[in-house]
Amino acid sequence: MADKTQETGTISKNEKISATTSVCGLIGNPVGHSLSPLIHNSLAEIFGHDLIYTAFCVSGEGLLSAVKGAFELGIKGLNVTVPHKVAVMDSLCDIDPIAEHIGAVNTLVRTKEGFKGYNTDVYGLKRALISEGVTLQDETVVILGAGGASRACAFLCAMEKAGRVYILNRSVDKARALAKDVNDYAGKALCTALALSDRGQITEESFIVLQATSIGLFPDSDKAPVEDATFYERVRFGFDLIYRPAQTKFMKLVNDAGGRSANGLKMLLYQAVEAYELWNGVSVPDESVHEVQKLLEEAVNR
Ligand code: NDP
Repeated sequence: MADKTQETGTISKNEKISATTSVCGLIGNPVGHSLSPLIHNSLAEIFGHDLIYTAFCVSGEGLLSAVKGAFELGIKGLNVTVPHKVAVMDSLCDIDPIAEHIGAVNTLVRTKEGFKGYNTDVYGLKRALISEGVTLQDETVVILGAGGASRACAFLCAMEKAGRVYILNRSVDKARALAKDVNDYAGKALCTALALSDRGQITEESFIVLQATSIGLFPDSDKAPVEDATFYERVRFGFDLIYRPAQTKFMKLVNDAGGRSANGLKMLLYQAVEAYELWNGVSVPDESVHEVQKLLEEAVNR
């Protein structure tokens, strides 16, 4: 445990981990570079909670027995990351309705019967956008990508009553399937699916973009899902879910065309804050969020 303490760099070396310490953690594969331990252990320290958070590398074959074992071991809560966010749903006693609609779970909360699944990515994105002064109500939103993260983006658009949503993806079938799911949820034709190359069909003069493809992720930092300047001239605000590098090529293109942009670090932070709040029944104040944000920025830029 002494080594673990040194790895996270946030838990005082003198602090005792005892037989009554609660355990939370992350399951995924890989998990070695995760920033979640830094966030949760920092929050536990700020709140003075007797809680430790670590990461468990779990294979697909071992997933269901890992969740069952975690429950039997008394683990308080788990986060779930790639590639288990969908498959983990089979191991839960209950699933929050929004997570059920999105079709992915990233947070497990202990109940008497087993773990209940939530999707805090969607609320993490919402709180990250609010912190940037951006709301989606009545806005035209362009979502780049139709993978797991795009599903959270598209459902948030419906929950926040966006005016019009375009889902652009390389594989247009996936964009169509997501648009149908969200339109069924919204009860109207909110989303239009397009191939990335058909972006010329977007008629609005100004929009918000949620960049949820994996293009531009370190080390492929010189790439963006859309390169042409005419598209970026119409982007008022561009949110890139990627946070490594801190300024992606997508963000640079938005800024160069006169728009405003932000990376996905605050989404990562706020989805963790939401999970921490669910596990511990607390509300994390803004000043604590900012404290952890500084640590997170230092860790990413290290
Ligand atoms: P998925 O693998 O589910 O989806 C990847 C998406 O990127 C798909 O739409 C895929 O298109 C597209 N894509 C990948 N490569 C290419 C390419 N060469 N050309 C065109 N399109 C491409 O990943 P996730 O949805 O889980 O994650 C997407 C990004 O969001 C990642 O970078 C991840 O790190 C980030 N993320 C950030 C979070 C945060 O808290 N900040 C939370 C979750 C994710 P296609 O369907 O055609 O393959």
